[in-house]
Amino acid sequence: METFDAIVVGLGAHGSAAAAALARRGQRVLGLERFGRGDGRGSSGGWTRMIRIVHFEHPWLVPMATAAWDGWRALETETGSAILTQTGGLYAGPATSTIVTGAADGAATHGLEHEVLDAREIHARWPILEPAEDVVGVLEAKAGALRADRANAGHLAVAERGGAELRYRAQVVDWRPAAGGGVEVETADGTVAGADHLVLTTGPWIAEFVPELRLPLKIEREVPMWFRPTVDPSTVGADRMPIWVLRESDTMYYGIPNDPELGLKISIHHWGTFVEPDAVDRSVPESDIERVRQFIRRRMPAANGPLVHAEVCLYTNAPDETFIIDRHPAAAGIAFASACSGHGFKFAPVIGDILADLVTTGQTGWPIAPFSAARFATRSS
Ligand SMILES: Cc1cc2nc3c(=O)[nH]c(=O)nc-3n(C[C@H](O)[C@H](O)[C@H](O)COP(=O)(O)OP(=O)(O)OC[C@H]3O[C@@H](n4cnc5c(N)ncnc54)[C@H](O)[C@@H]3O)c2cc1C
Repeated sequence: METFDAIVVGLGAHGSAAAAALARRGQRVLGLERFGRGDGRGSSGGWTRMIRIVHFEHPWLVPMATAAWDGWRALETETGSAILTQTGGLYAGPATSTIVTGAADGAATHGLEHEVLDAREIHARWPILEPAEDVVGVLEAKAGALRADRANAGHLAVAERGGAELRYRAQVVDWRPAAGGGVEVETADGTVAGADHLVLTTGPWIAEFVPELRLPLKIEREVPMWFRPTVDPSTVGADRMPIWVLRESDTMYYGIPNDPELGLKISIHHWGTFVEPDAVDRSVPESDIERVRQFIRRRMPAANGPLVHAEVCLYTNAPDETFIIDRHPAAAGIAFASACSGHGFKFAPVIGDILADLVTTGQTGWPIAPFSAARFATRSS
């Protein structure tokens, strides 16, 4: 049986980051991924993600988001790849909605540079946005857009540079504590590998890896889309407008400024269709596109050009819309994470470090109690 210091199962955003973090610490890493390199069937596909520092839904995430922002810049230096474009971030909705009050409170509490704008000011600054009259927006300076494909590739490159062996089309079918300590991991072709440490980062598939924990996760089908603007694209690029989230009624819409190659990203946060991760309809019917175009016609008519691309991606939602990052109770040296709820990507550099901390030392300096798997058991008892 081959042995390693650490095995990482699942090489999406968080597994890639964990593999890099472990390799940086001199660990001999085996990474196992069920699909191909850069495959988008989990949660980390597509081209771009937003990075917000202010978290209107969870203001306590600000220190972690700040460290992640630095982590992406460090990864750019390490790899020479451009990953993060700072654009600023606009969080808008009715004045009393959480998106506005949470963002303003979070920014003020943490001393983050920000402004509060009314609908008229928003439209004057970024004419492509036509919010309803009662909308207020909080603009934070540090937010931006991440190139998700380059971010994942960067972490994988760092892992490999540190000696990690990454295997693709290697579906893990079982893992178990080994009799003499450590763990054994078995793949579908019958290969068994051993290691002292195990990181489980299988995203939407995490529940089947830790069934005894009965994680109350719901997998949601999402459809990010990119459109060509009908105005001069240079007026709606990343140097001219922020990433944005706009709440209307009960729906949250979001977008990323125009990329000359990709177009304007515009979509809905939480499409409301729940699925089994192995039985997802990955086609994008016209009705999905029309759902986003209805918003575009109402609030961003100058974005209503040809559709560039649409694809299906999965959210793994926890009931409290945050993450699961924990040690496994079965044995020392095992940790798992499913850090999604639709906003986990940006944290990957920090979550990779946390997972490396947990498996190698059993603890981390980051306050991870809010991410514990046990919080669900406490609530339902
Ligand atoms: C449409 C969309 C928009 C988003 N927007 C943002 C955003 O703007 N900002 C932000 O911060 N976050 C955003 N997110 C959330 C973010 O993308 C996720 O939090 C993040 O990608 C989760 O990464 P992960 O590594 O935990 O999971 P995944 O990327 O799903 O990785 C899990 C990996 O495990 C592999 N795997 C599963 N089972 C096995 C097995 N048996 N053996 C081996 N490998 C296995 C899978 O193939 C997969 O590659 C968005 C998500 C979506 C879907």
